[in-house]
Amino acid sequence: MSKVAVVTGGTRGIGEAISLALKALGYTVAANYAGNEEKARAFTEKTGIATFKWDVGDHQACLDGCAQVAEQLGPIDIVVNNAGITRDGVLARMSFDDWNDVMRINLGGCFNMAKATFGGMRERGWGRFVNIGSVNGQAGQYGQVNYAAAKSGIHGFTKALAQEGAKFGITVNAIAPGYVDTDMVAAVPAAVLEKIVAKIPVGRLGHASEIARGVAFLCGEEAAFITGSTLSINGGQHM
Ligand code: NAD
Repeated sequence: MSKVAVVTGGTRGIGEAISLALKALGYTVAANYAGNEEKARAFTEKTGIATFKWDVGDHQACLDGCAQVAEQLGPIDIVVNNAGITRDGVLARMSFDDWNDVMRINLGGCFNMAKATFGGMRERGWGRFVNIGSVNGQAGQYGQVNYAAAKSGIHGFTKALAQEGAKFGITVNAIAPGYVDTDMVAAVPAAVLEKIVAKIPVGRLGHASEIARGVAFLCGEEAAFITGSTLSINGGQHM
């Protein structure tokens, strides 16, 4: 039986590329999403990938959503924590809601998903978590204290959970993408983006498929000895 992978925020951008890459490798994929149901239906029609709606920042919704996936597709073997949002602004203009929403979804989502799935993986003696961090969690970024803190938290969460999973065949790794050509980056003003691209040694934005290939590698059997690691995929933009 093929392994079951949940990709949070798996119907768009980097998440969509991850869902497609895992499906192409023969995994049974559940693409979680939080937005528009019609778009999710269109995604399923186009790709054949089942979609499941819940808010990863809501603990109970994660428990219920993962139970639904397990009932329909089988026990969850792989979790890709990809869902994320930005609420950018300099500190003086960042609201408490901007801070709380980003922490709740970007970092809290990883905790909620682990709470819902780690126990089952432990019982079956095999599991994979791949958490999507960010170069901005490693280096910080102007106007992103909330996002940088949450992403940096993901890198710490990854190292800590890796230690808990190691003796049960569960690996926990992170990917730190640089700037990737998705809707999230399309929201950055053109003049700012030009300056960002000028600092990327490879001289371009990344493609979602380039992040997905890293995720697929970390999910595989051949990556069993890699855990607690962060793979930077950033066109050489090491800070
Ligand atoms: P995107 O905005 O295109 O996609 C984000 C996805 O997360 C969407 O599918 C959205 O529906 C989902 N999502 C948002 N809130 C959710 C919630 N509460 N519950 C469930 N799903 C939710 O962004 P993207 O560029 O594809 O980013 C994907 C991940 O990669 C994010 O974690 C992002 O922080 C990270 N990342 C992106 C870049 C980049 O340059 N694009 C760089 C570094 C890291």
